Amino acid sequence: MAETKFCYHCSRYHPLEEMRQIDRKGVKRWRCIKSINATKQGLAQRDAFGKTVTALNAADSKARAEARIHLERANLSFQD
Ligand SMILES: [Zn+2]
Repeated sequence: MAETKFCYHCSRYHPLEEMRQIDRKGVKRWRCIKSINATKQGLAQRDAFGKTVTALNAADSKARAEARIHLERANLSFQD
């Protein structure tokens, strides 16, 4: 039978070939490659999401600033 290691992330045993030993606060622990990749992907997605939100906020404030300029110009021409 293939050797298994306990994955601290999934709290279950996986085959040794799916496992990586990592150093967590000086303690050697086994974690499966799948969960490591999933975390990496999650971080990348969160990062991309954060950038999208930042871009949206920037676009929004720019649009609002432009709208205010148009409104002020409209008010000025109305007063004339
Ligand atoms: Zn696992």
